[in-house]
Amino acid sequence: MNTTLDHNLAAQKLEGRSPQEILTWTLEEFYPRVSLASSFGAEDMVLIDMLAQIRPDARVFTLDTGRLPSETYDLMAAVRQKYPQLQLEIMFPATEAVQSMVQEHGINLFYDSVENRKQCCYVRKVEPLNRALQGLDAWITGLRRDQTDNRSNMQIVELDAPRGIFKINPLIDWSNDQVWAYIRDRQVPYNALHDKNYPSIGCAPCTRSIEPGEDLRAGRWWWELSNQECGLHVDADGKLVSAKA
Ligand code: SF4
Repeated sequence: MNTTLDHNLAAQKLEGRSPQEILTWTLEEFYPRVSLASSFGAEDMVLIDMLAQIRPDARVFTLDTGRLPSETYDLMAAVRQKYPQLQLEIMFPATEAVQSMVQEHGINLFYDSVENRKQCCYVRKVEPLNRALQGLDAWITGLRRDQTDNRSNMQIVELDAPRGIFKINPLIDWSNDQVWAYIRDRQVPYNALHDKNYPSIGCAPCTRSIEPGEDLRAGRWWWELSNQECGLHVDADGKLVSAKA
């Protein structure tokens, strides 16, 4: 890890810069020990396209939970074709952990309790994410400030304190409209489910389409009343992993 970097100063310096400028700075500062975390959502596709223009062999990783919709796998294949030099790493959950969880609680355990849902997200997402981040000094995310209330305090450069690495959010100030304008202008491939009213796409059994006017993340874990975060960006207490201090 680059211990000389002050993330607060870096965040100030990058304030008002374009996502491309933020990505260029990020690659100069951290490559090859930096990778984009992609679930192939609209924001991730924008960042993949930008990265490929700046550095075609940029690193991207994704978490194949084993429960993704087939449309996401189709997009994964399209990305490999369109950006052949991209270093795309696909992380899988640990076989034994999935097997014992399913054996004990059933294949659709997440509908039974919040605790079960969190266990499933931990086994299928968080633990593979932790493995993907090992050896990195920084990870890039497609998070935007206006996505949920607890994302509103995010910074462009943050310290992911529990993991001891930096977290870079180049699209922090972009709106949903800007994301889609970029996708259309550059003809970037995107998940076919977006055209069926799925603004936020995760695992198939935990994602549904939303009605007009509903919150953009209302289609995720809709049977739970309050928690629309997956555990990838929150700590054990449910707070977003970030440090502004
Ligand atoms: S989103 Fe659903 S299926 Fe995917 S890991 Fe979490 S609980 Fe499991």
